[in-house]
Amino acid sequence: MNETLQGWLGNQIETLKEQNLYKPLVVMDSPSEARITVNGKANVINLASNNYLGLANHLKLKAAAIAAVEKYGAGAGAVRPIIGNMSLHIELERRLAEFKHVEATLVFQSGFTANAGVIPTITDAEDAIITDELNHASIIDGVRLSKAARKIYKHNDLNALEDALKQTQGAKKRLVITDGVFSMDGDIAPLQGIVALAEQYDSAVMVDDAHGSGVLGGGRGTAYHFGVHQKIDIQLGTLSKAVGVMGGYIAGSAKLVDWLTQRARPFLFSTAPPPATTAAIIAAIELMDTDPSFTERLWENTRYWKAELGKLGFDTGISETPITPVMVGDEGNALALQRALFEEGVLALAIVFPTVQRGKARIRTMPSAMHSRQDLDDALTAFERAGKRLGII
Ligand SMILES: *Cc1c(COP(=O)(O)O)cnc(C)c1O
Repeated sequence: MNETLQGWLGNQIETLKEQNLYKPLVVMDSPSEARITVNGKANVINLASNNYLGLANHLKLKAAAIAAVEKYGAGAGAVRPIIGNMSLHIELERRLAEFKHVEATLVFQSGFTANAGVIPTITDAEDAIITDELNHASIIDGVRLSKAARKIYKHNDLNALEDALKQTQGAKKRLVITDGVFSMDGDIAPLQGIVALAEQYDSAVMVDDAHGSGVLGGGRGTAYHFGVHQKIDIQLGTLSKAVGVMGGYIAGSAKLVDWLTQRARPFLFSTAPPPATTAAIIAAIELMDTDPSFTERLWENTRYWKAELGKLGFDTGISETPITPVMVGDEGNALALQRALFEEGVLALAIVFPTVQRGKARIRTMPSAMHSRQDLDDALTAFERAGKRLGII
C-alpha cells in the first residue's frame, strides 16, 4: 500500500475528528419502520428516515419484488442501451409519465445519477446555469460536470433570480435549477414566480423534487402542487425517498427523454436497475395513484407533529412540509439533544455546520404516514424531557 496515500487519509480523518465533523455510521438492524432497532437498541422511534409514506417495507412492494426476482432474476445483466433494458423498465417509465402528467420519463439508478445525467447533457459551454444557493449536493455536482457558465442566486429570492437572469442575457440557452422542497428547512421553492421569470427571460426551468415526490400535490410533486407541471421543462424525482425503494427519474417532454436516452452518461454507462427494484417501484406508483390515504396520513401526522412541538415551546423554523427542523442554534446543544433523545428512545439526527450555517444547528425530524398517534406522542414526551433537561425549552 502507498504510504503517502495512507498517511494523508489518516491526517484527513484526524482533522475531521478534531473539528467534531466526524460522524460514525448508525447501524439499523430492522426494516425502515416507525420503530426500529438501531445500534443494538430495539423499539427506537424513527424520525430520521425519508420513508415518508411507509412504503419501504410495504407488503405489496415486497411481493412485487419477490415475484420479479422469480420471473426476471436478480440483475438486469447490462446497461440499458446494450441489453439491460427490460419490459419492466418500459412499464415503469410509462406509469411514471401517467402519474406525473408529463409526456415521458427516464429512470436512472438514483436521484444523484439523474442529476449527473441530465445537467451536463442539456447544457454547453455557451449556456448559463442559474442555481439556488441551497440546492442539493447532487445538483452542485451535476453543474460541475457541465461546461456552462454558472450563477448562484440567493435562496428562494425572486429578485436575486431576476438579477441573475438579466446578467446572463448573452448565453445561448439558460437553465434555472431549484430544489422543489429544500431538505434542511423544509421550505418550498416559489415555482410560480420562478416559472413567470423564466418565461419573461426565455430560460428553461428544472426542479429537483426529491423531497416533493410522494409528498406534495397528492404525491405528484411540487410542480403539480402549484399547477405548473406543464411549464417546467425538467422535473427530477427520486424513487428512493417517499417511493420507498431506490432510483431517480427525469420527467418532461418526449424530446428531452429521447435525447437523454442517447447521451446521458449514467444511463449509457451504468447498469440498469434490477428487476426487484423496478417491480417494487411500479407497485409503489400504483399505490400512490389509487390510494390517497398514504399522503393524507403523512400530512395529518405532519400537522399534529408541528403543532405539538410548537405547544412544547420548540421552534420549528420556516418548514411547510413534513421535514420539521427543531431549531437549537448552538452546535454542541444540538448534538447533546440528539444524544438525549436517543437515550429517551428517539432517533432524530442533529444537522450542524457545514451542512447548515454556523449557529443554525438543529435536529431534523420527519414524521411519516407510518407513525401512529402513540408513536408521535411518545416522541413528544421524549422531546419534552430532553428539551427541558438541556434548557432548550
Ligand atoms: C436525496 C436527494 C437526491 C438524491 O436522490 P437519491 O435517489 O437518494 O440518489 C437528489 N436531490 C435532492 C434534492 C435530494 O434531496
